[in-house]
Amino acid sequence: MAFRPMVGLEVHAQLLTASKMFCSCPVAFGSNPNSNCCPVCTGMPGSLPVPNRKAVQFVIKTGLALGCKVSDYCRFYRKNYFYPDLAKNFQISQYDEPLTYEGHIDLAVNGEPFSIRVRRTHLEEDTGKNLHLSDGRSLVEYNRCGVPLMEVVTEPDFTSADQVREYLVQLRRLLRYLGVSTANMEEGAMRCEPTVNLVDEETGQATPIVEIKNLASFKAVHDAVSYEIDRQHWCLENDAEMQQETRRWNETEAKTTVMRTKESADDYMYFPEPDLVPLTPEREWVEEIAQSLPELPLVRERRFVEEYGLPQYDAEVLTEDKQVADYFEAVAATCGDPKSASNWVMGDFTHLLHESGQSPDTCKLRPEDLGKLIKLINDTTISSKIAKDIFPTLFEQGTDPQQLIEEQGLAQISDEDELSAIVDAAIEANPKAVADYQGGKEKALGAMVGYVMKETRGQANPGLVNQILREKLSE
Ligand code: ZN
Ligand code: MN
Repeated sequence: MAFRPMVGLEVHAQLLTASKMFCSCPVAFGSNPNSNCCPVCTGMPGSLPVPNRKAVQFVIKTGLALGCKVSDYCRFYRKNYFYPDLAKNFQISQYDEPLTYEGHIDLAVNGEPFSIRVRRTHLEEDTGKNLHLSDGRSLVEYNRCGVPLMEVVTEPDFTSADQVREYLVQLRRLLRYLGVSTANMEEGAMRCEPTVNLVDEETGQATPIVEIKNLASFKAVHDAVSYEIDRQHWCLENDAEMQQETRRWNETEAKTTVMRTKESADDYMYFPEPDLVPLTPEREWVEEIAQSLPELPLVRERRFVEEYGLPQYDAEVLTEDKQVADYFEAVAATCGDPKSASNWVMGDFTHLLHESGQSPDTCKLRPEDLGKLIKLINDTTISSKIAKDIFPTLFEQGTDPQQLIEEQGLAQISDEDELSAIVDAAIEANPKAVADYQGGKEKALGAMVGYVMKETRGQANPGLVNQILREKLSE
């Protein structure tokens, strides 16, 4: 028997809108508990929801980027269940009419291509949070209640934990590129729930589907899926009983444990939300959103390799974030040296960016000025050592590098007359080195070059110094 894994993924992502899904309360993190709430998001009787247009636009945008079709007509449903963090006892979600559906994404793991079908991307509202204190009391926090939430569901097309992780990495990058979500798993802005089972394609025999909850990182998702695949194989080999169930991932013990079985599965009693009219996105609007899509990260990554001749690694790192990729392209355009631009952006620039907690769009150093700096190195106006030394100042102040170099008198000395005089002094001060050099000891030149460098505080153009020295000594 050849059983292969069939893994599907459901991802929830909080949308980066200014206000909540059905009211005007702000979507803000770190506010005082229960301060961003109103009668609508806490479900007071008689309050009426109004959909957030931006949230609808974000889901359509994501759906289009995933190759999905956009519904002409779809309704919101009430998903009924009781939980203290959802005061109105139902979540407004979508059911059999998702906003977008039937897309796909082409990916690769270690050069092995695979394709994942996207079943749907739909829109719903987030729930609040319960905080369980160590003394046994529980608190409820409604600030998150009603935050727009997008759900992206795939078909069970993944065959390995590595594929699942690659999809999540690419989905996160895509959501960030589109500017629709921070997709930070650590902050709960992106959450995912895989389903795992094994199927024998010849006989059609399959193990019961297991859903895994409580996954807080890409590593947790990868390890949990991998564990679950192995566990089901083990059950098959040992004739152990299996059933359709929800399991939770225990990170410390690195295993899944039963949370609830099919018998106790929820019945949500979905029914159309009577307080909302159906969504009917106009074709022109959808077309407009399609036109506004940026170049997608995977496409851009490929272009960086082909157009700029960058190594695959550089292309991947630079296109991880749209702002960084834009910044790199502007630097490269100014200096005409893509590989140096890439080194500076990935190296010193990113380092200072992280250190100062800024983003490429908010930092003071304009990409044109970093491009200029690289140009000044390439045309030997300054040494790369001096460029590295002044970079923190440039980054902090956003100064024109040319101006800073002039102000601080850092330009490389490439004036032959000026250097010639210093070289004469170097020859005079080092009679032994002169004799050694003229006796055939090539290395003896170093002492005289060192003298010139010291005299010029490292600003002499070393190539030119060598050339002048050789000329003078051979006379
Ligand atoms: Zn509200
Ligand atoms: Mn959901």
